[in-house]
Amino acid sequence: MSDPARHPYTDGLDAGVVRYQCCDGCGAWQPLERHACRACGCLQLHWRDAGGLATVYAVTEISRAPTEAFRALAPYTLVLATLDEGPRVMGHAEPGVAIGERVRAGFLRFGEATLLRFLRE
Ligand SMILES: [Zn+2]
Repeated sequence: MSDPARHPYTDGLDAGVVRYQCCDGCGAWQPLERHACRACGCLQLHWRDAGGLATVYAVTEISRAPTEAFRALAPYTLVLATLDEGPRVMGHAEPGVAIGERVRAGFLRFGEATLLRFLRE
């Protein structure tokens, strides 16, 4: 029985890896989490560990935290980063990162969760 509170992506962060879904049928990586392959419709999707290297695609500076818990972190930087394997993921990042910069996944323990936090390569 799998624990419904657990998820391969957040379990990966807890273990210090970024995971993404990949199709068993054709090998295509999946953007976000899907039930069927975007390329071939195959239902056999599995989670793979990414190497952790990525390129910054978009940057947002957050000055007002959306929740009480995140207020301790504000101001902070969020990025969309394209993993070298292809998928794009959202995560925190060190301040001042710019679009196009090379970054490496880091992991920040925050309460009961682990946040993805990119650092400059
Ligand atoms: Zn496929």
